[in-house]
This record gives sequence, C-alpha cells and structure tokens, in this order.
Amino acid sequence: MRENRAQVHSLEKGSRGSRCEFSHMFGGVPCVEAARESVDGLALCGRHALEAKLEGQIKCWGGILFHIDLWSREASRRERPEVVRLLEHQRTQATAAIERAYEDLDLLRGRARHSWEA
Ligand SMILES: [Zn+2]
Repeated sequence: MRENRAQVHSLEKGSRGSRCEFSHMFGGVPCVEAARESVDGLALCGRHALEAKLEGQIKCWGGILFHIDLWSREASRRERPEVVRLLEHQRTQATAAIERAYEDLDLLRGRARHSWEA
C-alpha cells in the first residue's frame, strides 16, 4: 500500500529530462551532467548551454558577414566609398566577435580542434 505521492518530483531521483541533452544535438558522447538551462528547447548543463549559445552566435555572425560582403560589393559597384568604409568597419567588428566566440569555445572544450567547421 502506498501513501499519497508528493506532487513535486524531486530532481535528484533522476526524473526524465533532468539530464543534459547535448548528445541529442550533435550525436556525440552522451553528457552525464545535470541539466541547468534550456537552450532552443533542449535541457543542457551549464557548459553545454554556453557551448550551444556560442555556436549560435558564430552562425549568426557568419550570416551577418555574408551580407556585409554582399552589400560591400554592391556599394563599390555604385561607387559609394563611405558605405564601403562603414561596411568594412562592421566586418571588422563581426570578425572580432567570431574570433572571440571561437576562443571561448576552445577554452570551453579544452582543445584547439575546430571540429565545428563543416
Ligand atoms: Zn552537458
């Protein structure tokens, strides 16, 4: 015979969904850490949440760089040096932001292999 079950499930009892779901994302080695944050609908541990955020930032900046290149070519075609200069400045900022994110990822992963480069 059972007593009334508590309504709140303790997380320490290994309830489903409390594990980091990082391996589901990239098919890598399963992470055994407890999930602490939710990123894009996935419950992730602190380290992997940061990693996922950095990956997202890099992708985002990559898209911005692509458009800067596009606009920059168009601006030089139209002989708008002031626009080209402005875009050049933005490209420098975007490139620096990407490099910072890659450095953070390297530190986080404890190695310098750029395995995320597809
Ligand atoms: Zn994890």
